Amino acid sequence: MNDEVEITLEEFLKLPKGSYILIDMRSEVSYQLGHIEGAILTHEDIRLDGDCKLIFYCQYGIQSVETAEQFRKCGFRAYSLKGGYTAWLKKQFHVLDTDEWERYDRQITLSQIGVTGQLRMKNTAVLIIGAGGLGCPCGMYLAAAGVGRIGIIDHDEVSLSNMNRQVAHRETGLNKAVSLKNTLVGINDKIQVTAYPERFGTDNAAELLDGYDFVIDCTDTAETKFMVNDLCVRYDKPYCYGGVIGFEGQVMTVIPHKTACLRCIFEEPPTGCETCESHGIIGAAAGMIGCIQALEAIKFITFREKLLTDKMFIFDMLTMKTRTAKFGGISSKCSICQNNQ
Ligand SMILES: [Zn+2]
Repeated sequence: MNDEVEITLEEFLKLPKGSYILIDMRSEVSYQLGHIEGAILTHEDIRLDGDCKLIFYCQYGIQSVETAEQFRKCGFRAYSLKGGYTAWLKKQFHVLDTDEWERYDRQITLSQIGVTGQLRMKNTAVLIIGAGGLGCPCGMYLAAAGVGRIGIIDHDEVSLSNMNRQVAHRETGLNKAVSLKNTLVGINDKIQVTAYPERFGTDNAAELLDGYDFVIDCTDTAETKFMVNDLCVRYDKPYCYGGVIGFEGQVMTVIPHKTACLRCIFEEPPTGCETCESHGIIGAAAGMIGCIQALEAIKFITFREKLLTDKMFIFDMLTMKTRTAKFGGISSKCSICQNNQ
């Protein structure tokens, strides 16, 4: 290794572990979203012994050059990782091909997403539980946005009375997970989609959830929603709850052990709940809520801010009134959060 202040990724990867301290100069949020293995944040205590090198990296390897130079002036063996975190990300993960650059151009343009956000989406797996009125629009928009791997679980078959809202299905009698998968692959052939034609429950949750980074609850009964909540908290999977009936819908995102879960708020599933079958539902209302759930997933994956955590968004689509009910975080009485620390 020469003594230039900049060290290339290839040079860095050859360094023996323990011969350097790797320092991430970006914000804590960026660090939490993803960092180079073994890196510490700038404010953490650094213990230097003898020959140890200090390697700084920022997002693109620009500010870190300046920092490394300053440390050199103080006598440290400091280096800046060339290309920064972005160079590492490109090497570690699947990168975008020419078609993808064009396909996702309009969202890469968004400052909140950019190339890093798009790469995060490509390298993230989302599980959709329920391929009905919420799951169809949600899955379609996640596929279009380029979420790299989408799983869909549903044991049910498409019936004619589903068609007013479950807009991804084309033929009756087909398993809903398989049917939605066919539509998603048609929307975007750059992603991987897996259909699980089975019922989600305690017996298969651990194995299923293990392969996914984020879960979307698109189920349609209160009991199932509480079961999804409990299993996501138990297996530490961030997830987005959504519900819709008639013209009204609700959405909330849960980061287990950090933000309130469904049971922190309601304790038990409400009894005598109306269902789409008994009360009725308008498809566009389900579409609206499914799209908000897709947005929550995209925000979680790309920049993890402004999520519907510790709050429930309630949308009356008849009067077009919205309100947001706020909650005070995890409840000390929640049987699920307190028993799955
Ligand atoms: Zn809870």
